[in-house]
Amino acid sequence: MANIEKTAILQKYLDLDQRGAIIAEYVWIDGTGNVRSKGRTLRKAIRTVDELPEWNFDGSSTNQAPGHDSDVYLKPVAFYPDPFRKGDNILVLAECWNNDGTPNKFNHRHEAHKLFEAHKDADIWFGLEQEYTLFDEFDNVYGWPKGGFPAPQGPYYCGVGAGKVYARDVIEAHYRACLYSGITISGINAEVMPSQWEFQVGPCPGVNMGDELWMARYLLSRVAEEFGVKISLHPKPLKGDWNGAGCHTNVSTKDMRKPGGMKYIEDAIEKLSKRHAEHIKLYGADNEQRLTGRHETASMSNFSSGVANRGASIRIPRSVAKEGYGYFEDRRPASNIDPYLVTGIMCETVLGAIDN
Ligand code: ADP
Ligand code: MN
Ligand code: MN
Ligand code: MN
Ligand code: MN
Repeated sequence: MANIEKTAILQKYLDLDQRGAIIAEYVWIDGTGNVRSKGRTLRKAIRTVDELPEWNFDGSSTNQAPGHDSDVYLKPVAFYPDPFRKGDNILVLAECWNNDGTPNKFNHRHEAHKLFEAHKDADIWFGLEQEYTLFDEFDNVYGWPKGGFPAPQGPYYCGVGAGKVYARDVIEAHYRACLYSGITISGINAEVMPSQWEFQVGPCPGVNMGDELWMARYLLSRVAEEFGVKISLHPKPLKGDWNGAGCHTNVSTKDMRKPGGMKYIEDAIEKLSKRHAEHIKLYGADNEQRLTGRHETASMSNFSSGVANRGASIRIPRSVAKEGYGYFEDRRPASNIDPYLVTGIMCETVLGAIDN
């Protein structure tokens, strides 16, 4: 049966009245940096996160728990309108907790949240630039010539026209889905390597940054699934003269955003320079393949900063330097980061550690 016929049949069922019930799709982060989800029926529409029941899943099937004690608990922390099911149906982001009341080993949100709560007065904001690469069902870079390479990098960044841009339909669908779900998506662009794209989320305060980025990644995987396209967050999906993929992390505090804020930005960069190695540890696996000092990156072995310098670890945007306040950009994080780990250590370094 052709796909178009299946879609027509499915539509009959999608139009059926749900009789007051809603579907809540619970989304969580597994042990491999991927998202997983499963759905359940709730009897009525949800207004606040406290109305959402806790749930659980088989952690032995996701490498998150041993088989003899396999229940991992899902604790809802945020919910979003579901762009796939629409109506009152929702996507629920959940933290993973173990049976003994401790956070699951991959629940990095819990610690980050504590840091942000302790530094609430500083009103720290983040903006993440998520880069990613598209692959087809046979694991070739999407749209690339079979068994060959496209012309060298140059025409693809923000490219327009056949042969310069790939999969605009997937990217557009994801953009719209994010807006529908209330994600603070601030833009998209085609990247330097063909079939590599970027979306930006932010500015978002504190723990919301990680929440929204994870949900935006979930939406991307779901949308791409419908098009039969695979999403890779690997920081260097292709060896050679092809750009890697990062997740530039833009940061500001209340003090940095006020006139005279440059003093606080410089102070933060000074603190960052002293913890380079500790940050790099949390800035994504395989990031050494990307941070080579080439392809718009700084070398991983040393720390640097500069105004408008895209070859530095930290960049102060030209407009920020001109006005004397605003935000700075950490260019080191890889595309496959856990945003809770990265925003968490950023908060700790800039604003101070807390007692646990
Ligand atoms: P680039 O020039 O590095 O490609 P982008 O336009 O892709 O920059 O991304 C800039 C990011 O900075 C966006 O995610 C935006 O939300 C974020 N941003 C803007 N202002 C602030 C701020 N005051 N604090 C933190 N992030 C910010
Ligand atoms: Mn079962
Ligand atoms: Mn960008
Ligand atoms: Mn980019
Ligand atoms: Mn950037």
